[in-house]
Amino acid sequence: MKLENKIALITGSSRGIGRATALLFAKEGAKVVVNYIKNETAAKQVVEEIKKNGGEAIAMQADVSEENQVKQMVEKVIERFGKIDILVNNAGIVFDVPFKERTVDQWRQTLNVNLIGTFLCSKYISELMLKNNYGRIVNISSTNGIDSLNPESIDYDTSKAGVISLTKNLATELAPVIRVNSVAPGWVDTDINKDLPKDFVKSETDKILLGRFARPEEIAKAVLFLVSDDVSFITGVTLIVDGGYLSK
Ligand code: NAD
Repeated sequence: MKLENKIALITGSSRGIGRATALLFAKEGAKVVVNYIKNETAAKQVVEEIKKNGGEAIAMQADVSEENQVKQMVEKVIERFGKIDILVNNAGIVFDVPFKERTVDQWRQTLNVNLIGTFLCSKYISELMLKNNYGRIVNISSTNGIDSLNPESIDYDTSKAGVISLTKNLATELAPVIRVNSVAPGWVDTDINKDLPKDFVKSETDKILLGRFARPEEIAKAVLFLVSDDVSFITGVTLIVDGGYLSK
C-alpha cells in the first residue's frame, strides 16, 4: 500500500473525481477526510463504502471558499487525526454561459471556489504540514487552464490557469518539505458535464485520441501517482490527463 498511516483531505469528494480519489486513497491505506459542501448523504455514502472495505474515513462539511469554514474544518481534522499529510484541492464549479450573458457574480463565485478555495486550503493545511515536516498537495486544474478556446467558460478557464500558476508558486514557497503538483484533466465523465449538449459531447469525443471521456478513477490514479513516494523528485508540475486531445 502506498499511503499507509497517511491522513488525506480531499475537497469536494462526495462525488466525481474527488470521490474516486477518496476511495482509491483509502484502498492504499490512507485515512480520508471526505469534504463536502451540501450533500451530506453522498459524503456519508463515500465514508460508508470506505469503512465497508476496511478503511477509515470521516465526512466533513465546509465551503472551501469561506476562510472561517476552512479554518474550522482543519481544526476538527486535527482534533480527530492529529495531522494532515495529503491535501487534494479538487472542489470546483463551472457555469457555461455565453460571453455576453456572463455576470460579475458568476466570475466571483467561480474564482472564489476554484482559485481562492485552493489557496485557502493550501494556506492553512501547509502550515501544519511544515510543522510536521511532511506534505503533499495536488491541485486539480484542467486542460481548460492551458489551451481552452471556449469563451462560454471564460471565468472557469481563467480560474484553472490561476490554479496552475498557484501550483508553481506554492511548490516554490513550500519546498523542500511539501511537494505541490497539479493534475489537469481533459474531459471526464462526471456530473459537472451532465448538461452538455449531446452533439457537443460527440464533437469533443472525436478530438480525443483514446475516443472517450476519462473515467473519474483514471484521474484519481494520476493524483495518487503525484502524492506517492514513487515520484519523490517531482514538484511544481502539471500533469495533463486528457486521453490525447487534438487541438481544434
Ligand atoms: P463534480 O461537480 O462532480 O465535483 C465537484 C465537487 O466540488 C462537488 O462534489 C461539489 O459539491 C464540490 N464543491 C463545489 N463547490 C464547493 C465548495 N465551495 N466547497 C466544497 N466543495 C465544493 O465534478 P468533477 O468533474 O468531479 O470535478 C472535480 C474537479 O475536477 C473540479 O475542480 C473540476 O473543475 C475538475 N475538472 C473536471 C473535468 C471534467 O471534465 N469533469 C475536467 C477538468 C477538470
